[in-house]
Amino acid sequence: MPKFLTSVKNHLLAGVVFTVISIVYLNVVTVVKFYLAGGDFSRLPATDKVYAISQIVKENSWPFALVGLLITLFLLIVFRRFHSLRSKVVYCHLGLFLILGLIIQTHQLVHSGLFPETKSFGFYVVALILALVAFAVYHLSSRAAFLILEKTNPSSKLYLIGITIAVIALVFLFKGQFGRATTSSGEDYNVLLLTVDTLRKDHLSYDGYFRPTSPYLDKFSQEGVSFKNAYSTTSHTLPSLASIITAKYPMHHGLRNNHSYALTDKNRTIAEVFKKHGYVTGAIVANEVLRPNRNHDQGFDYYGKSYYFSALKYDIPGLVMLNRISKFLGEKAFLYPGGEAYHTTNLALKFIKKSRDKKFFCWVHYMDPHLPYAPPPGYDNRFCKREKRFQPNNFDIVRDLRRYQLNLPPTSETVRKIRAFYDGDVLFSDYQIGRLLKSLKDMNLTSKTLIVFSADHGESLADHYYYVGHGRLVYNANIAVPLLIRFPDLRHKGVIKEHVSNVNIMPTILDFMGWRQESFPGGIDGVSLMPLIREGRRDYLPLVRSQSGVPWSFDPQLFDEIEKGRPNPLKTVTAMLAVDTRYGMEASLREQIELKLRAVIKDNWKLIYVPVKDSTSPTGLRHYYELYDISSDWEEEYDLIASEPEVLRELKSEIESWCAADTGTSIFAETIEMDQEDLEALKALGYIQ
Ligand SMILES: [Zn+2]
Repeated sequence: MPKFLTSVKNHLLAGVVFTVISIVYLNVVTVVKFYLAGGDFSRLPATDKVYAISQIVKENSWPFALVGLLITLFLLIVFRRFHSLRSKVVYCHLGLFLILGLIIQTHQLVHSGLFPETKSFGFYVVALILALVAFAVYHLSSRAAFLILEKTNPSSKLYLIGITIAVIALVFLFKGQFGRATTSSGEDYNVLLLTVDTLRKDHLSYDGYFRPTSPYLDKFSQEGVSFKNAYSTTSHTLPSLASIITAKYPMHHGLRNNHSYALTDKNRTIAEVFKKHGYVTGAIVANEVLRPNRNHDQGFDYYGKSYYFSALKYDIPGLVMLNRISKFLGEKAFLYPGGEAYHTTNLALKFIKKSRDKKFFCWVHYMDPHLPYAPPPGYDNRFCKREKRFQPNNFDIVRDLRRYQLNLPPTSETVRKIRAFYDGDVLFSDYQIGRLLKSLKDMNLTSKTLIVFSADHGESLADHYYYVGHGRLVYNANIAVPLLIRFPDLRHKGVIKEHVSNVNIMPTILDFMGWRQESFPGGIDGVSLMPLIREGRRDYLPLVRSQSGVPWSFDPQLFDEIEKGRPNPLKTVTAMLAVDTRYGMEASLREQIELKLRAVIKDNWKLIYVPVKDSTSPTGLRHYYELYDISSDWEEEYDLIASEPEVLRELKSEIESWCAADTGTSIFAETIEMDQEDLEALKALGYIQ
């Protein structure tokens, strides 16, 4: 035993030596495992891999440091009590740290994907070889460290520790400070476009929601123009976001669902316009339906896929260990900063920091309020008691709700719970957006950046008896979205009540930039909102269109409920379609239903149209309408179809001409086949089994 280990101070020093060896070794093991396991990690571009490794090291190191400290203190107590063991101090340290290392190393080997059958002969052989490697690493490196420490006199040892702590502190202190001295010299503004998946605007506190779900956006909304009545062109992610980046309605960009279509190169996206004007363009997307094979990345220099990081957080051994300890302590001890929005903001900041000396256009798409409503710890019990079945990575609730295997209709308690967990996700997204905006301010970029905030669609949350999801209906719960615009010099502020569409976002940004003469193949549907914002002009605003519906929209169980005499879940129209589903809907009709539910909004009136199968009709279809005054009835409870014939006639003709013009095909879209990665993504989201 080295002599210097006999004092308490030196015993602690030995603990530090083994802790450092463990941290280095286990980080290497974890990174090697991620390389071997393939999956999401292997799909990352090289720069994002570096970021992922930095996250792994960060999330591993401090839990291992904590455990190392606990082992050292434990041994100190043991040695004080059992003096005879003191001669074995190094072996005791080595033994305990090695056990920790072997447990984690074996755990990583199991999850490496190298051995589908972990009880195989090959697995045991590799596990044994790796155990010997670990022993050799721990033993040899500790011996070397002790040898150096033994030869160092006591005061030098203190210096050594002091210098190490000082270096670590300096690295943290100046992290990100390097290269901050320069600032952009260009006159042109940057643009930051923020969108959140599945964000219902009436669940944001600035819109009057009863829960404080959006403290950062509340403040942000005060600094710019807030649109009270904005709508998405559809309640499906991919086509809605395509409308934002191409300024075309789905009937023109041609995307009708999340899986079977991609934009073609014939489109000219907002990113391409910015690129033409010399901007650096970057997008960070958290929803896997935005994979590059959908071509939404067209025109972006950098396309960050933060959806690849959601799996990462369940696989870093330091985090797994902390989660287990946290659960043991009643889940109150540990506040993990994860959640997809955390990595989305980090990647966005990485892009912005790199591009800050140039002009940049950055689009960030967050995902957290989307199913499975699993806010990270600290946010999951903010509005509701934490429950096991709502824990992250537990998709039971999603599968249950997707299959409608929960008791229908859901109890008010279930609905309350669904909404409370959803609101936790909204709060977490708000926090991460707040973090991004604060960093932008710290970089002195707020005064030279136009910031636009919106969503791709809303969420049903049991309104209109549609329990979870968004793609089936065109009620406000599904299509109303937030829309905020903050101008760099704060020149325009206030609330605008006019009804507008997210198809107007791109023309508004281009108008603000002064690029009004850009041309686009096939033209665009959106109009700039700048005349409305600047001069309050309303006369030029077109009516708002939105469409929805999926082939599998209508569930037989809903129809059973109506038969039992309960309130009509989705109103008559859906029940009729449910009959079709129940008795086997033909494939051709299923296709017809895709995005066939339509709504037009004009002067506070909203007309909803649904084609209903009717074998007695010569066309095989009957036309069903609902009419609402959404200025007084935003929830769409009072159908005024019978009392407003004039309004009905006018809006009906709009629907009819729209249906006639919508051929269902477009040269700006192509159909694609789902690949293995798509199927894995759908599975992870709980859409399929
Ligand atoms: Zn979406």
